[in-house]
Parts: sequence; C-alpha cells; structure tokens
Amino acid sequence: MQPFSFHRPTSLDETFSLLEQHGDEARMIAGGTALVVMMKQSLFTAEHLISLDRVPGLSGIRGEADGLHIGALTRHRELEMSPVVRSAAPFLAEVYSHVATVRIRNQATVGGGLAHADPNQDPPAAFITLEARVKLVSRNGERLVPVAELFSDYYETVIQPGELLTEVIVPPVAPGTRTAYLKFLPRTEDDYATVAVGATAQMQGGVVQKLKVALIAAAPTALSATVVEDQLVGKSVTPAAIRQAAEAVEAIVDPLDDFRGSSSYKRDMAVVFTRRALERVLQDGA
Ligand SMILES: Cc1cc2nc3c(=O)[nH]c(=O)nc-3n(C[C@H](O)[C@H](O)[C@H](O)COP(=O)(O)OP(=O)(O)OC[C@H]3O[C@@H](n4cnc5c(N)ncnc54)[C@H](O)[C@@H]3O)c2cc1C
Repeated sequence: MQPFSFHRPTSLDETFSLLEQHGDEARMIAGGTALVVMMKQSLFTAEHLISLDRVPGLSGIRGEADGLHIGALTRHRELEMSPVVRSAAPFLAEVYSHVATVRIRNQATVGGGLAHADPNQDPPAAFITLEARVKLVSRNGERLVPVAELFSDYYETVIQPGELLTEVIVPPVAPGTRTAYLKFLPRTEDDYATVAVGATAQMQGGVVQKLKVALIAAAPTALSATVVEDQLVGKSVTPAAIRQAAEAVEAIVDPLDDFRGSSSYKRDMAVVFTRRALERVLQDGA
C-alpha cells in the first residue's frame, strides 16, 4: 500500500477545510472495510485519508416525527440490533442482517456503505423501498437526496467533492406494510448476492395501494423497479399479473458476467426473484 497521511478532524468545519486543502488527493474514511481493501489491491490511492471517527454528531439512531434519523457513522451491526429500528422499521434491520458477516457488520458504517456504491450491496434494497433520503452536507449548505437517486454508476454517486453524507432519514413505515427481501446466495451464506430483490407493499381488499421494488446486483447501480410498480398499483392481484409485472425487470437489468453467474442467468434469476418477492408481499399466505 502506498504511504499516506492520516487526519482525524474533530469537527465538520475542520473536515471541510481538509477536503478543500487536499482536493483529489484526499479521501474520507469511515469503517475502512471497502477503502482499505481497494488501497491494498492498488485499485485506488489517496495521499490523505480523513477519518470521520472523531467528528461529533455523525453517529446514532433517533426516532423523530419525520422518521428514523440514522447517523452516517452508525455501524451496520448497531442498526441491525437497534430496538428503535426493530420497532419502527424491522425490514431495515432484517436487510442489514444479510450483509457479509458479524465481523464486517461491526466495522462497516451506514454512510460508508452508501457512499461506496457497490451495486451488489444489500442495504439500498431496504432504503429504496422504504423511500429513504440521505442528507449531504458541504461548506455551502445541505441537500436531501432520495437513495433511489443517489447512485450514478458502478461505485459512483451524486455526492460532490467537498460533500459529506451525514445521515439517512427513513420516513415512518405505514402500519400493515408487507415486506420481503430475497437474496439469492448459491455459494455461501455470507457472500454478496448473485441477485437480490426487496419489496414493500400496502394492500386493501386485494388491491395494491402502494408497492416499491428494488433490485440489487442486477445493474451498474441498485435499481428502483418502477416499471414493476406501475403495472400493479391500483390493480387486483392475480398470479398472471404478478408474473407479467416480474417479467418487466428484464428490460431494466444489465447484470455483469462473473463468477456468481453469467449475465443471462442473472437476468433470468432477476425475473424469478422479483416474482417471488411480489408473491410474498401481495398474496395472502404466500
Ligand atoms: C469481506 C467483505 C464482504 C462484504 N459483503 C457484503 C455483503 O454481503 N453485502 C453488502 O451489502 N456489503 C458487503 N460488503 C461491503 C461492506 O458493506 C462495505 O465495505 C461497507 O459498507 C463500507 O462501509 P465503511 O464504513 O467500511 O466504508 P469505508 O471503506 O470507510 O468507505 C467507503 C467509501 O465511502 C466514502 N465515505 C465513507 N463515509 C462517508 C461519508 N459519511 N460521506 C461521504 N463519503 C463517505 C469513503 O471515502 C470511501 O470512498 C462486504 C465487505 C467486505 C470487506
């Protein structure tokens, strides 16, 4: 690994100053689980690492009127085990329990995971279907971005130079919301998904009131499958309607050929797992 300077700012202001001072040569580090691996493999170099661990106000989970506020430095395991999350948004805790191993989850942070933007990561499936937003803060102010619009390409986001992801806000989950996260893992339990699908739905009298579907490991970014949602919202559910809606993901997925499967196999599995996730959230007793 190339030598680098390690900075530990103790305020947001100091963090912004370091980012301004070192520009492209600097990178923030949170849990380090993604960044250090990439640096060791020389996939990435940085002359200055700016650790966020001493910046106050970036950790912890608060339940507020507009939903859960999850600090960027919150560890995956802390989120997974949090009584506040388990009560207000149990689906989120469930999806985080599927990330890698407890060892990784004890180290990796919520903000670091989202900023890393690996399309194989699990958490965006929950954040997209729960309509969460991230807060991005810079010297010039702050803005809220839906997680569904955060990712722009493989390992790329809309986070601008000088901006920091400070928290994720998950709006209140409506009572009776049904959820499903299906992670296809043909190799080992702690692997990344070959393909994965998250879904949340609200039903009334057999009619779909609201539906959110997200696909993971199926394209250069996590996908919000509005093409599926549009076919089913406002309609009565039938097995044929579910099958047809699931087939619509073929048009939006673009998976990589790799050791987890060929692109065409993953495309087929995206349809199969979307159908199964829809059956879980839309059919009684599925
Ligand atoms: C062996 C292994 C297995 C894994 N398996 C899975 C899996 O099954 N499912 C899954 O979802 N993930 C998996 N992961 C990925 C893991 O979730 C990520 O490595 C982790 O979430 C990154 O978080 P971090 O805090 O360690 O980020 P870091 O490595 O510290 O940072 C990652 C990137 O985010 C930037 N960054 C960090 N914090 C911020 C911030 N607040 N604002 C702006 N930019 C920031 C950094 O500059 C860097 O570019 C695995 C990782 C490993 C090493």
